[in-house]
Amino acid sequence: MTPTTPAPMHLDRESCYRAVKSRDRRFDGVFYTAVSTTGIYCRPSCPARTPAFHNVTFHPTAAAAQGAGYRACKRCLPDATPGSPDWDVAADAAGRAMRLIADGVVDRDGVDGLARRIGYTPRHLSRLLTQELGAGPLALARAKRAQTARVLLETTDLGAADVAFAAGFSSVRQFNDTIREVYAATPTRLRGGRARGGGGTLQLRLAVRTPFAGSALLGFLAVRAVPGVEAVTGTSYARTLRLPPPRRGRGSAGPATQRSPRYPD
Ligand SMILES: [Zn+2]
Repeated sequence: MTPTTPAPMHLDRESCYRAVKSRDRRFDGVFYTAVSTTGIYCRPSCPARTPAFHNVTFHPTAAAAQGAGYRACKRCLPDATPGSPDWDVAADAAGRAMRLIADGVVDRDGVDGLARRIGYTPRHLSRLLTQELGAGPLALARAKRAQTARVLLETTDLGAADVAFAAGFSSVRQFNDTIREVYAATPTRLRGGRARGGGGTLQLRLAVRTPFAGSALLGFLAVRAVPGVEAVTGTSYARTLRLPPPRRGRGSAGPATQRSPRYPD
């Protein structure tokens, strides 16, 4: 890691660039490529033309690339890649923090609340996350909110205000500003003219890392399904969940049913 390039600790620039040149999908979510000439960032497997070596920087998270002023590529949707596998299994503070951030802890309890749950001071936690992931807790939470909002806009009929609050934004204005900044598009454009509708069922498309053992996963869930809460068929998994009430304004509280995932996708 050089002082000017926030490359992931475990991957040097040359290795990252080799992965980008070969469009190696195994590195999706492990690091992100930002291109200085276009101002966008991509996943390693992006089908676009490989940028020149001296024009790219590598970032450990989508939030880090966003923090450095880059926008998500519209072709490869880099923020939709599942998080680095390291975050899911690492029994360390950064891994725990990432899971709690994905859970909305920063949106609900702030950085102080997150730090309390990890057992660090807010300052220490921010320093640790910046060192490990290239972005602080607020930037990581913002990237997560933006991504959740985009998935909801593209795959559900929820109204814009419901999407904003469900994704963890504290106001519709903050939601609009963030979406514009991260995707260079309005929520309406991301939605692509989809009609709004009601209903208590959300159908979500979830990003997976290929190769994806969908049948095995459904089999695993089927034998462990909690009666009355979860239902598994040969091709779908559904569960009832209670969503946190919206903090203000409109939105629906109470049990909702989430069906997911339809696969393969
Ligand atoms: Zn791309």
